[in-house]
Amino acid sequence: YFVSAEKFADQRVLLDGDEAHHLIRVMRAREGDRIIVSDGEQREVLAELTMIAKDSAEAKIIEWLPMDREPEVLVTVAQSLPKGDKLELVIQKGTELGASRFIPFVSERTVVQYDARKEAKRLERWRKIAKEAAEQAHRNRIPQVTAPHAWREIMEMAEQFDMALFCYEKAGGSAALRPLLQQLRLNPSHGGNHQRKPSILLVVGPEGGFSEREAEEAKLCGFQLVSLGRRILRTETAALAGLACIMYEFYE
Ligand code: SAM
Repeated sequence: YFVSAEKFADQRVLLDGDEAHHLIRVMRAREGDRIIVSDGEQREVLAELTMIAKDSAEAKIIEWLPMDREPEVLVTVAQSLPKGDKLELVIQKGTELGASRFIPFVSERTVVQYDARKEAKRLERWRKIAKEAAEQAHRNRIPQVTAPHAWREIMEMAEQFDMALFCYEKAGGSAALRPLLQQLRLNPSHGGNHQRKPSILLVVGPEGGFSEREAEEAKLCGFQLVSLGRRILRTETAALAGLACIMYEFYE
């Protein structure tokens, strides 16, 4: 049942009007029966009927049910391993924005040395950051954080996604992101299957950027080269700006 927000009080919820009529006369509910009540926005609860009168009823809240706060698009952020703790920032803020997976990777100009033994600890830390950010954002699921991948693996991933975007500051004005996103939203390439959310791979380069050779290879692998504007963004800014643009376009 949907009731207005003011009908929720402490651990109780009141039903009257059409809702009560349906519950009492149509469903012939009894005290002790359980119902699901929502205010249609933020609250949804499992409640047990404690009082049934002629044209109203009261129920005790048993459990708050989680609302779906997941976006309508699945975005994997592939970020060339940046220096220092920048990836932590991308994971934390990217989780708040709604990313579903983070894949760090090594490209031609990645300067960070990747040591698999030390990385196990870092990976654990990245995953903890994703979990805490997901909790704080009240997400329904924690984004996955994978161990760093090789460049080739990222290139081969393009075909697994409905859209693979390669952020490239030299892509030029005709490579704007918005028309591509609108096209994906309006003409889903996931076969109009509304049970499945469209998936996007967003690839961002390191501090030194991608080489021309890498950009060419990405194109051949099926990536769309996209610009995030005429300014040069820091690597961590580019990932978050790209994500924000995608979430804006798919917000419903
Ligand atoms: N030197 C700065 C730094 O230390 O972060 C900027 C590096 S920028 C070259 C890093 C990456 O961000 C690029 O490889 C690209 O993926 C993305 N990027 C930055 N500005 C962009 C823009 N205007 N359009 C598209 N991608 C951009």
